Amino acid sequence: MATIETPELVVIGGGIGGGAFATVMARAGHSVLMLEITEAHRDVVRGEWMAPWGVNEAKRLGLYDLYRSHGAHHLKRHVTYDEDMPPAEADTRMIEFSAMMPGSEGPLTIGHPRLCGILDDAAVAAGASFLRGVRKVQVVPGVSPTVRFEHQGVAHEIRPRLVVAADGRHGKTAQQVGIKLNADPVHHWFSGMLVEDAYGWPEDKQVIGTAGDINFLAFPQGDGRVRLYQGVALSDKERFMGDEAPRRFADGFRLACVPQSEALAAAKPASHCFVYPNNDTWSDEPFAPGVVAIGDAAGHNDPIIGQGLSISHRDVRIVSDILKSTADWSTASLRDYAVERRELMRRLRLAARLAAVRDCEFDAQGRARRARLHAMFMIDPVVTGLMLAPIAGPESAPADAFNEAALDAILKAA
Ligand SMILES: Cc1cc2nc3c(=O)[nH]c(=O)nc-3n(C[C@H](O)[C@H](O)[C@H](O)COP(=O)(O)OP(=O)(O)OC[C@H]3O[C@@H](n4cnc5c(N)ncnc54)[C@H](O)[C@@H]3O)c2cc1C
Repeated sequence: MATIETPELVVIGGGIGGGAFATVMARAGHSVLMLEITEAHRDVVRGEWMAPWGVNEAKRLGLYDLYRSHGAHHLKRHVTYDEDMPPAEADTRMIEFSAMMPGSEGPLTIGHPRLCGILDDAAVAAGASFLRGVRKVQVVPGVSPTVRFEHQGVAHEIRPRLVVAADGRHGKTAQQVGIKLNADPVHHWFSGMLVEDAYGWPEDKQVIGTAGDINFLAFPQGDGRVRLYQGVALSDKERFMGDEAPRRFADGFRLACVPQSEALAAAKPASHCFVYPNNDTWSDEPFAPGVVAIGDAAGHNDPIIGQGLSISHRDVRIVSDILKSTADWSTASLRDYAVERRELMRRLRLAARLAAVRDCEFDAQGRARRARLHAMFMIDPVVTGLMLAPIAGPESAPADAFNEAALDAILKAA
């Protein structure tokens, strides 16, 4: 057993939440050790579109300028296209983000592996220690928690003041320390692919829509790169599997209802297609003695509304503010975080449910419902609130909009 200097904070996972948290706390003068399982971040299809409300969180954390200086790209326009609407009519309904959310420069896009790397470097620059390629990480909760891990074949055991579980949706720390995750049933499958050389696609325009048996989403990142996503029915998982998956995925973007979509279909695939179940997970108490979970480790929102980056930044802000404001780092001090996150995730779960039912049910009934739900935007307060929340933030709509019974009734009637 080798000795390693014991820091105040051990952060498990050097992804978005871990890297941002380590940076913010190291900048505040705390000693931080961050442990990351991979030797290099690679594209496993994660979030690359940060909602305008998440951009505000990044600004509050002092991270936004860092992202921009490394090429993060703003989108200015959104268009919803649909197989049942002529493209010219859809274009007349284009949304300018600056009009929808005054003062906003729009969503921010940047590659996930790149953003993780930027944050890891920032954490180290701020004084955090960072070990990559760690193995067998094990956490025992307690007033003085224990972290065991191996690095370069050497076993370590340390007892920091607090462990931050930021090991993402497949992380094991939350489970090890007894943080219980609830889960919604899976609604559909979701996959993503990065393409390059899509120079024929407008760099400031994102699109979302449904045609045939595909829910399509496209978010440019600048310099010809576009992150594409597709949602399909639960019976259609094979579409994203095997050697032909990238070609099938690209073909899905030959869309008669989307002008210039050929630029996306013909672009160069620059990643695999990984497939994910679309559902929400959440924890009512994202902490255990000596341990707090942030980001996906504390539960993830359905990726259909692209909230995970924003949620992770919100988590980092709330937890770091608590830790900076008090010497008491016990679970009692973290209760406000749990309460805030529970409501945040509840609201976003309803928003995601509306989007999933609207965009990813492909039969005749689903198609008719989609048209009716779109027609209710800016008319019905619940539909409007749930459609605006993923852009402007879960506090942007009145609390009444986040009413499960009202949403049930709307989806049934529509
Ligand atoms: C298909 C898909 C599309 C998405 N699209 C969007 C989007 O457009 N916008 C958006 O905001 N969000 C989106 N998300 C969600 C977003 O990617 C996540 O919410 C976000 O990355 C969460 O950050 P995190 O730090 O919790 O996890 P991650 O970014 O996944 O980082 C976790 C880190 O922990 C490391 N790790 C894992 N296990 C261990 C271990 N045992 N020890 C040490 N390190 C470990 C991992 O290697 C990784 O580096 C999407 C998710 C999916 C699946």
